[in-house]
Amino acid sequence: MNKSREIVCIVCPNGCRMNVSYDENNKVTQVENASCKKGEEYAVNEIQCPKRSITSTVGVINGALPLVSVRTDKPVPKEKIAAALEEIRKIRLEAPVKFHQIIMNDLLETGAQLISTKEVARLEKM
Ligand code: SF4
Repeated sequence: MNKSREIVCIVCPNGCRMNVSYDENNKVTQVENASCKKGEEYAVNEIQCPKRSITSTVGVINGALPLVSVRTDKPVPKEKIAAALEEIRKIRLEAPVKFHQIIMNDLLETGAQLISTKEVARLEKM
């Protein structure tokens, strides 16, 4: 039996509202109201394999700040996000941390790298 869902495209600020039809195996059969090919691809992925980028923070030892912000360099499957956040919570970095430093490669075999989005200097002891 075919199902359908309305999806708001988040690829660009236009925010097109698309109607997506799909079968019992989540195979997309039709996308209506997509204004471009990218939106259509987004709708298909949202039904067949939804992904999200992860942003979080990681603890820093001996840093001028106690935490550094991090993100994945590409979206990861939604079903792996909770486990990925659990892995990220376990990480402790020794300062200094560079901007765009690779913190973890192939996060939970998703092919995504975890990278820092801020620089944290080492706290100099007096
Ligand atoms: S369908 Fe195309 S034009 Fe519409 S929001 Fe998505 S990317 Fe933008």
